[in-house]
Amino acid sequence: MTIYNFSAGPAVLPKEVLQQAQAEMLDWQGSGMSVMEMSHRGREFMGIAAKAEADLRELLGIPGNYKVLFLQGGASMQFAMVPMNLLRGKASADYLNTGEWSKKAISEAKKFGAVNVVASGADKNFSYVPDFSTWQFDKDAAYLHITPNETIGGVEFDWLPDVSVPIVADMSSNILSRPIDVSRYGVIYAGAQKNIGPAGLTIAIVREDLLGHVADGTPTMLDYKTHADNESMYNTPPTYGIYIAGLVFQMLKEKGGIAAMEKTNIAKAKLLYAAIDGSGGFYQCPVAHANRSRMNVPFTLKDAALDGAFLKEADARGLLQLKGHRSVGGMRASIYNAMPLEGVQALASFMGEFARANA
Ligand SMILES: *Cc1c(COP(=O)(O)O)cnc(C)c1O
Repeated sequence: MTIYNFSAGPAVLPKEVLQQAQAEMLDWQGSGMSVMEMSHRGREFMGIAAKAEADLRELLGIPGNYKVLFLQGGASMQFAMVPMNLLRGKASADYLNTGEWSKKAISEAKKFGAVNVVASGADKNFSYVPDFSTWQFDKDAAYLHITPNETIGGVEFDWLPDVSVPIVADMSSNILSRPIDVSRYGVIYAGAQKNIGPAGLTIAIVREDLLGHVADGTPTMLDYKTHADNESMYNTPPTYGIYIAGLVFQMLKEKGGIAAMEKTNIAKAKLLYAAIDGSGGFYQCPVAHANRSRMNVPFTLKDAALDGAFLKEADARGLLQLKGHRSVGGMRASIYNAMPLEGVQALASFMGEFARANA
């Protein structure tokens, strides 16, 4: 039976990447060592990290005045590093509140300064992204923080507000899923375990002029400049995670890059939302159509008493980890880059059968 893993994160990885890692596990390219055993300062690993960075730069078209940092601590650590590095002597920052991850970023930022919430989707249970015309800015804000894809709520938006302050984006769950114009951001960050590679690696893409302005007393490890000045090797980086991420980048390039990925992601999302919307109300997705995520698709069954049976039958067909986040209930299918179209087809046809059998 083919297994399809719909976990929100850590999430499915491309099979060919895992196979290559398996083949190289004991002996990386004739070095006689596993990548896990290599010095991060040795020739072999330095080459692996440099290639991973170069491939990521090529995939996202990252301009030369941006640093690519391989960090640890997850996106959650970025919730603190962003204000520590970007307030630059200012007292406040603007944050858009689109859901659970925005809220966490906001509450962490409040430890370092004042937070102005420019707009919030709370009035409709975070089922939409407030229109830009309603946003209220703080004229003294040091930066604007957004979460372009809310992994839990399944709310995504692709447009960028026209502002003069640096835009900081938590792209943990949609980086590499669609083309972006990096030059319009100050900082982009993402935990690797959704759409890049294994947990333990966090990637930050930082515009150079934003480096070097941390407040006095900031720990060395939490200063972006420390990592920028040392090619992410100030201390031991998450070497194996960087290696796997590098294999993913290489595979994405071979498959036609981000534009090709986006095409498949659109097809996958279309199929799944059609299965929900075409079910005559048996399945429901609470998110406004314009803001429906291509990566994380939450849905409920009209009778929650059927949730257990749905999950059990899905499991029996190899459709795994569909249980919704504990805060929202219902189901959630995460369909990141590494989820093949066939996986979504299998889920959609199961959903149709289940609905007919239980209508
Ligand atoms: C998962 C996630 C986080 C938290 O990531 P960690 O790596 O667990 O700290 C933050 N933001 C978004 C959008 C996420 O999906």
